[in-house]
Amino acid sequence: MKFSLVISVLLIVNVCAAQKAAITFDDLPLNGDLPPGVTRVQIAVDTLAVLKARRAPPAYGFINAKKLEGNADAAEALKLWAASEPFGNHTYGHMDLNANPAEAFEREIEENEPALELLAGKDGNWHWLRYPFLREGETVEKRRAVRAYLQAHGYRVAQVTLDWEDYLWNSAYARCVAKKDAPSIAWLKSSYLSIESSYLDLDRDLAKTVYGHDINHVLLLHLGAFSSAILPDALDLMQKKGFTFVTLEEAESDPVYEGDPDVGSKYGGTLLELWMEAKKIKFPSVMEKPYKQLQEICK
Ligand SMILES: [Zn+2]
Repeated sequence: MKFSLVISVLLIVNVCAAQKAAITFDDLPLNGDLPPGVTRVQIAVDTLAVLKARRAPPAYGFINAKKLEGNADAAEALKLWAASEPFGNHTYGHMDLNANPAEAFEREIEENEPALELLAGKDGNWHWLRYPFLREGETVEKRRAVRAYLQAHGYRVAQVTLDWEDYLWNSAYARCVAKKDAPSIAWLKSSYLSIESSYLDLDRDLAKTVYGHDINHVLLLHLGAFSSAILPDALDLMQKKGFTFVTLEEAESDPVYEGDPDVGSKYGGTLLELWMEAKKIKFPSVMEKPYKQLQEICK
C-alpha cells in the first residue's frame, strides 16, 4: 500500500516535471557573421539536418526579408528552410519598435509580407510576428497600437519564455573557426551550455513566480554559424532537464498565452520578464553572461 502510494506520488511528480517547449529561430536567413568559405545555405542545411535527425517538431524561423536584397545565397537558404520548416514575420529590416513610431513598425511588417507570401506556397501559416529585440513598445499606448494592428491583420505574437541570448555566440564561433582555434571553440561550447543551464532554471522559476505553476514554453534561438554545432548538446541539456519539444501552436495553446502584461517597457524582454515588470516583482539574481569574452575571443 505504502509502496504503491510512493510510486503514484513519483509518477505525479514526474508528469508535472515534464514540460513542453517550442523551438524557434530568429533572424533568418542569418544572424551574425559567417566563417570564411561557409555559405548561408550551408548554415541552413546543417541546422535543418540536426532538427531532422532529432525528429524535432516543426520549428518556426522568423524572417527579415531585407537580408535577401541582391543576395542569392540568402534567398536559397530561405527556400530550403521554407521547404522543411514553418516561418513567420520578424519585420523587413529588424526594426526596433522602441526607437520608431507604431506606423513605421506596421509598414515594416507589411513590407516583409511579399517574401513570406512567395515562400509560403498555398497553406503555410506565416501570420506570426516575433518582435525584433523582444521590444514591444516603450509606452503602453504604442504597445496597444501595434497589438491592435496585429489582431486586425490576423497575426499572433510569437512569444518567448526561454532566452539566454544565444546569438552572442554566433559571430564569436565564426571567428574561432576561421582561426582554427580548438581550445576557444571548446570554451564557446562549455560557456554556452552553462549559461543555457542557468537560464533554463531561471526562466522556469520566473514562470512559477508569475503564474504560480509551470507553463508551456517557447525557446528563442538565432540561426547562425554556431547553430548546428551547439544544437545537439543544447537540446540534450533541455531533455535532461525534462523538456519535450512541441510546435509553437501547441506551446501557445497554453491559456497563459491569452494573458497580456499590457505594459510599456524601455528594455523589452521575454513574456515572463514583461510580466515581472508589470507586476513590479523584483528580478532574481542571475549568472552573468561572458559578454566581454565573447566579444573579444579569436579577434
Ligand atoms: Zn531578431
